[in-house]
Amino acid sequence: MDLKSYNFKNKRALIRVDFNVPIDNNGNVTDNTRIKMAIPTLEKILNDGGSIVLMSHLGRPNDEPNKEFSLSQIIPSLESLLEKKIIFCSDCVSDESFKTTKNLENGSVVLLENLRFHKEEKNGDKDFAQKLSNHGDVYVNDAFGTSHRAHSSTSLIANYFPNDKMFGLLIEKEISCVDKVLNSNLHPLTAIVGGAKVSSKITIILNLLDKVDHLIIGGGMAYTFIKAQNGLIGKSLVEDQYLDLALEILKKAADKDVKIHLPTDSLCCKEFSNDLEYNIRTIDLIPNDEMGLDIGPDSIKIFNNIIVNSSLILWNGPMGVFEMSNFQNGTISVANSIVEATKNKAFSLVGGGDSVAAINLFNMADKVSHVSTGGGAMLEYLEGKELPGLHAIRN
Ligand code: AMP
Repeated sequence: MDLKSYNFKNKRALIRVDFNVPIDNNGNVTDNTRIKMAIPTLEKILNDGGSIVLMSHLGRPNDEPNKEFSLSQIIPSLESLLEKKIIFCSDCVSDESFKTTKNLENGSVVLLENLRFHKEEKNGDKDFAQKLSNHGDVYVNDAFGTSHRAHSSTSLIANYFPNDKMFGLLIEKEISCVDKVLNSNLHPLTAIVGGAKVSSKITIILNLLDKVDHLIIGGGMAYTFIKAQNGLIGKSLVEDQYLDLALEILKKAADKDVKIHLPTDSLCCKEFSNDLEYNIRTIDLIPNDEMGLDIGPDSIKIFNNIIVNSSLILWNGPMGVFEMSNFQNGTISVANSIVEATKNKAFSLVGGGDSVAAINLFNMADKVSHVSTGGGAMLEYLEGKELPGLHAIRN
């Protein structure tokens, strides 16, 4: 079943959205991207003449009501983006909330309070899911960011809508973008992986080896690969327990004719600090008392050349400690190369926590093809796992 062709007239659409947005100490939404991206689905339903009940989680409230995590804080942001008054229910399964949603007028939009004020949400509780299902006639999952969780509102609830369940427009777009990268015949396909640890990205790297032509590895994780090949990495970040696996990955890549590109040089500092001098070092000749905190100019040149000549690009994880100004350049340069490739008609997908934070920091989000809203979900999808939230709709 597909949202675009479904007619929502006189229907109450119960939508799982991902309104888990950052909120400051004064209760203001500091980044409304996730709310903005949910709007097309809501507009389609309202234009058809239906009504909407929105459910989401916000933060980690420890299974009980907590003002700090109240979704009421996002109402001004939602109202201004949707240009509509929102009806708020201060508990997602209270009698009051069911009274409100039972006879909803077409065109109305209800927002339920944070689902995670009830422990049953995360526990994946059948009864809780069934209760929630009474809020709507049709279930729409548009929360890509939580689709890797088998929670009541993301997965179990779909059982109560055997004939009326579908993806929202945002999830559809997210899936089609990742599928485009994973299943396309366009080449060269380049994946750029960075960030702190090899351990958190191993399954992705292994899965990508079957698809990509080039794999660029930067960030802290690169040093484990350099040390595995007997390079001298000084005090750089390393996971000694993954040295053998790093060698195995290099061998697998060679067997599959995937070109792995590690940095050739590195910006090195005596401490993890933005205030000290730093030196450019050859990547495998870092002095004992220094650590690599960003890729160097030679690596940037090599990576840029590969990226701008790619047709498909996937980027996950920064090239260095981009939070410190001295060590941003590698990540900015890679982002610039991706933007340049995108201008030259490449399809570029940026996903996973910190690369999204970086691309937003550099104001480049609208210059790549797609920035994924789902950090963990996107990573698990790239690992080749079937996500419970997607499975629940498809089956
Ligand atoms: P991840 O969450 O695994 O994608 O890692 C992101 C984090 O990796 C960011 O906070 C970066 O500051 C950090 N990072 C990137 N490169 C390095 C490096 N060379 N040394 C230490 N941390 C790094």
